[in-house]
Amino acid sequence: MSDNSLRIVWVYPDLLSTYGDQGNVLVVERRARQRGLDVARLDVRSDQPIPTSGDIYLIGGGEDRPQRLAAERLRRDSGLTRAVENGAIVFSVCAGYQILGHEFINDLGQREPGLGLLDVVSVRGEGERCVGDVLADIDPRLGLPQLTGFENHQGVTHLGPAARPLAQVRAGRGNGTGDGTEGAYNDTVFGTYMHGPVFARNPLLADLLLKLALDVNALPPTDDRWFEALRNERIAAAEQPA
Ligand code: GLN
Repeated sequence: MSDNSLRIVWVYPDLLSTYGDQGNVLVVERRARQRGLDVARLDVRSDQPIPTSGDIYLIGGGEDRPQRLAAERLRRDSGLTRAVENGAIVFSVCAGYQILGHEFINDLGQREPGLGLLDVVSVRGEGERCVGDVLADIDPRLGLPQLTGFENHQGVTHLGPAARPLAQVRAGRGNGTGDGTEGAYNDTVFGTYMHGPVFARNPLLADLLLKLALDVNALPPTDDRWFEALRNERIAAAEQPA
């Protein structure tokens, strides 16, 4: 943490903020403040440089064209890559997740290079678009309860050996490869197809980022009754036959 305040960077809200992904920054910011932390939140538009000294970077989903523009600008800027080299934590959703990989298929049908911060490659799925509620068991090493989310993507993401699946789906498609994996992560970089926003549905995932950023094993408890009610509602919805 820099000068005693936790720096949370919301990357390109003008291009990457579909399906309520902005909620992720609201939730992580609030949960940090509830723990008495001093938080500096920076919303960085795509015409602004990405600061390299942030603690947590959040990137949301986007439509195909904004996704290409965001990838072009992030490659040119290189601030996010330097931030990861400095030990920053990055959490990305859907289009943001695809951009963090080695490449994805852009709106022109061409292979678009990503940032290579995650060992994943995204291609265009040949089948139906993946849309609907997701239930997924998170990697047991991360020690969190089952995740719930909402997915809406055409891309299918293949993991390389340096990326671990974030979770295994019980309902929904996740990475769309048919192997049941959902999302990917390495030490400090995370990607998921789950909107929701995913931190509102799974606040302990936001806490995981906070713990990594603060380098602590535990945080003071919070009153999560509202989150639990939402979570139970979404689990029931996802378990209903289509
Ligand atoms: N355009 C990407 C896809 O369809 C990502 C969509 C999204 O971010 N919701 O795969």
